[in-house]
Amino acid sequence: MTPRILFLDHAGVMGGAEWSLLDLARALTPRGTVLLFEDGPFREHLEAAGVDVEVCPAPAAMLGVRRGAGRWATLQSVPAVLGYVRRLVRLARAYDVLYANSQKSFVVGALVAGWLRKPLVWHLRNVLSEDGFSASNRSLVIGLANRFATRVIANSETTAEAFEAQGGRPEGVRVVHNGFDPAPFDAVTEEEARTLRQSLGLEGVPLVGCFSRFAPIKGQDVLLDALDRLPGAHALLVGDALFGDEAAYAEGLHRQVERLGLAKRVHFLGYRTDLPVLLKTCDVVVMPSVAPESFGRVAVEGMLAERPVVATEIGAAVELVEDGVTGRLVPPRDAEALAEAVGALLASPQAARAMAAAGRRAALARFSLARMTEGIERVISEVAPAP
Ligand code: UDP
Repeated sequence: MTPRILFLDHAGVMGGAEWSLLDLARALTPRGTVLLFEDGPFREHLEAAGVDVEVCPAPAAMLGVRRGAGRWATLQSVPAVLGYVRRLVRLARAYDVLYANSQKSFVVGALVAGWLRKPLVWHLRNVLSEDGFSASNRSLVIGLANRFATRVIANSETTAEAFEAQGGRPEGVRVVHNGFDPAPFDAVTEEEARTLRQSLGLEGVPLVGCFSRFAPIKGQDVLLDALDRLPGAHALLVGDALFGDEAAYAEGLHRQVERLGLAKRVHFLGYRTDLPVLLKTCDVVVMPSVAPESFGRVAVEGMLAERPVVATEIGAAVELVEDGVTGRLVPPRDAEALAEAVGALLASPQAARAMAAAGRRAALARFSLARMTEGIERVISEVAPAP
């Protein structure tokens, strides 16, 4: 008997966790159903990929709780959470394994799994640290994980270490890096990338790209400061505010562009779904995160697009990029160092091409979809009830 899996995710929009689950659920179809706590583009992407998906709208009192929320805000959401758990218990009975893909869905999933006595896998895709999560949030999820999670899949060593440092039980942790399908990157020709550049009016200019939601951790503001030190270079800022209070940061970026007089050299393209061609349109791809990323998908996507990647030497980026070989790593929040690394790559196209080719080889070898799927299948077979 192959186990039936119920994937849980609270998000309707496409963050990195949702792109990763899309790949996984597609690979495991038809054995899984994805249950979303709100409707949105994620449902459309899943349906287009032929994945079975169901939306069970969660109460706003539950979805509105932020990761930085204190004990009181968390407590206030308890009645809403319990009512929602009751609804999911009915839906989850038919499945053998519950699989939570996000923090909020894990809290709900833990209670559902405890109620139904079903195995629960938590795919942890956040660095649980003092930086991003309140003390009450951390102690809640660690307590639930130690009690109810049969396994915790960490998307990087960085994620696993942070989980354990917060008191998470190490025995149940398995590290599985994200995997990527190179096909969409291979399908884009250099000609198509050139045509896109023409249509943006950016022929012949040095072009740097940053592809992330607009959030303080992503460090787009550091890239703008670096661009100020790179006369003549242009930047594509691809992405938008997606979650919680990210809109304020996005507005701040626009103000910073005005203040620095960069309006002619910074191009805001909004949230896009044609990343392969956009990545290939750039000379250098940057991931200037100012706090540890749990993974950082765009770094690997830049490598698959065969562009030199400059990331910061914190968090999982150090697991993805080998400095000086498959990309560059610079200190976080250091616009000078970022400008220097980008400037050096722009000045030596041949060295940049060699680094990009090495990055692509490494990405293909280390971050394949097959490797990720195998790793996750192994965990599922460890927890699935015997036939
Ligand atoms: N992304 C996208 N369109 C955008 C900006 C980002 O499709 O306009 C994708 C990007 O390709 C990547 C994901 O969103 O796959 C972001 O994942 P990452 O791990 O870099 O960051 P997260 O959002 O998980 O913090």
